[in-house]
Amino acid sequence: EGRIVIVGASLAGLRAAEALRERGFHGSLTLIGDEPHEPYDRPPLSKQVLQGWVRADHTALPRMRAVDAEWRLGVAATGLDRVNRRVLLATGDTVPYDRLLIATGVRARPWPNPAEGALRGVFTVRTREDATGLQAALNAHPKRVLVVGSGFIGSELASVCRERGVPVTVAERGGGPLIGPLGGVIGDIAARMQRGAGVDLRTGVSVRSLDGDSEGRVRRACLSDGTTLDVDVVVASLGSIRNVEWLQGAGLAAGFWGVGCDAGCRAFDINGVVTDNIFVAGDVARQPHVLYEYQFISMEHWDNAVCGAQVAANNMISLETERRPHLPLPSFWSAQFGVNIKGVGVCSFGDEIAFTQGCPENYRFAAVYGRRGRIVGAVTFDHGKWLPYYAAMIERSAPFPAPPPGYDRAPDPAP
Ligand code: FAD
Repeated sequence: EGRIVIVGASLAGLRAAEALRERGFHGSLTLIGDEPHEPYDRPPLSKQVLQGWVRADHTALPRMRAVDAEWRLGVAATGLDRVNRRVLLATGDTVPYDRLLIATGVRARPWPNPAEGALRGVFTVRTREDATGLQAALNAHPKRVLVVGSGFIGSELASVCRERGVPVTVAERGGGPLIGPLGGVIGDIAARMQRGAGVDLRTGVSVRSLDGDSEGRVRRACLSDGTTLDVDVVVASLGSIRNVEWLQGAGLAAGFWGVGCDAGCRAFDINGVVTDNIFVAGDVARQPHVLYEYQFISMEHWDNAVCGAQVAANNMISLETERRPHLPLPSFWSAQFGVNIKGVGVCSFGDEIAFTQGCPENYRFAAVYGRRGRIVGAVTFDHGKWLPYYAAMIERSAPFPAPPPGYDRAPDPAP
């Protein structure tokens, strides 16, 4: 049976541990996590927790089953010795393994200037502690919050501010919110939605610097268009950094983009050769997808962490012939400005878009993304129940654009 070690005790790590036991793995199982907490769920941190509906310490992930494992929480892995098959810990201990799962995820990209980032009132949102700190700041009735960056998390934070009646400015370097994952057409709709809800959205603008007062609290932001803003809370929502430093020197294909692995979650070494005892799952994984011309993609989505964990667990304890590729279609969701956004496929892979249902003007619609005449992604605003319909189209590479459900004529692509 041997020894399995999982580094990263969050969503992917927990779900992999559960799947290993469920599939009959009886050997020794150790989870190593640098956070002091039992695995918890991150999506509520930028939504229900900041809205005050759920306490940050009440976000533990529901257990699918009891996991018989040794949990080493609050201790970081600092190195990997592949020759002797052991993980090195910050405590100086070593943990031997026969098979290893890398599930160390990502961390929030910090404010680029460390001195400004250390000012009180400057936050990122990735952990429970981050959310608790930001919630306290929002409870103190700030005069204005500045959210820097408007991807999913930045947009959710702006939404929470408006729901709580807090004045909020969003500074987005690009052309609009959500453009990275969902493209410019949806970005324009999201921009209208945000402005309609009272967000002071400024696009094409970055933040040059932050100034603090004599007590070290953030007070002012200087923007690249020459304007300044009086702010007492700044949330940097600048994307993420993959947690791969501990793998330095281990000879794996690990770097800026994550840890490269094949479709079955087996890690590549530095020469691009697949390893037989090291696996990768979750936000830190970078793997090829059959539906996307085998391009390597990294996905920081909840469903991807769960699916990847299950495939990795299966392949860690299966014979070569029984190994399963990581094939499920990527899917994601977000909740902001009273709208449930759900998507499937890789929308950013598409180069054209067509609306298939509903009405973009009132933020209730479905749209599909096409690439080379085939559907590669779909996004829905309050039309989530149609996601399986679009997922089926993507899975069979249906021609773009898709007919709306119940119709046989495809809509015209958006200009
Ligand atoms: P993580 O959750 O990042 O876990 C990795 C763990 O490994 C962490 O505990 C980390 O501290 C630990 N670790 C790192 N390095 C080491 C080391 N050297 N040694 C030991 N431990 C280490 N996804 C959606 O699909 N929909 C949403 O609405 C959504 N909302 C989100 C809102 C927020 C605020 C955040 C932060 C994320 C959201 N996500 C959402 C993304 C989703 O939470 C992630 O995809 C998911 O958490 C990935 O799980 P993971 O286990 O791969 O990585």
